Amino acid sequence: TRRASEVAGLVRAVPDFPEAGVTFQDITPLLADGEALHDVVRSLARSVSGPQVDLVVGMEARGFLLGAPLAIELGVGFVPLRKEGKLPPPVEAVTYDLEYGSARLEVRSATVPAGARVLVIDDVLATGGTAAAAVDLVERCGAEVVDVQFLLEIDALAGREALAGRAVTSLWGVP
Ligand code: 5GP
Repeated sequence: TRRASEVAGLVRAVPDFPEAGVTFQDITPLLADGEALHDVVRSLARSVSGPQVDLVVGMEARGFLLGAPLAIELGVGFVPLRKEGKLPPPVEAVTYDLEYGSARLEVRSATVPAGARVLVIDDVLATGGTAAAAVDLVERCGAEVVDVQFLLEIDALAGREALAGRAVTSLWGVP
């Protein structure tokens, strides 16, 4: 296994993408490295706090890339939260504010059993708006969110404040 700092170094900071003034954290070099990918999935699985989780729920699209292998590592199922209009009905939905406009996340509530202990995962914690919406959606299905995990968090955006009172884990932070 690789040193954590080396794995973190595989994420490429891209200035002015997708727009001027934004630095995008590009995780594709890490995903393309088999040993690094295995390392981060194992580290996420190890950082689960408390009792066993029953289900991993991941956000479209990069939450799928980490969430499905994490679910396999934990020996549980995976449920995708999708953008509007991708899932067949019936769905539960939540609308949340973006910097400009709004977005909608949907889930097939039949795949999230009431009372299930759920781990929510995405690649990057930025403002926390997406993750807070995901938590809301899982709870509307009657399940319990026991862990919210990210590969990395952008410290300056203080996304943890949007998830106050939750168990939030990221493998590392970037300024
Ligand atoms: P938030 O809602 O926390 O502001 O934004 C988080 C969502 O946007 C996540 O779904 C994440 O995939 C995506 N995101 C925001 N910034 C970045 C970034 O710099 N790199 C990547 N890979 N995703 C980002």
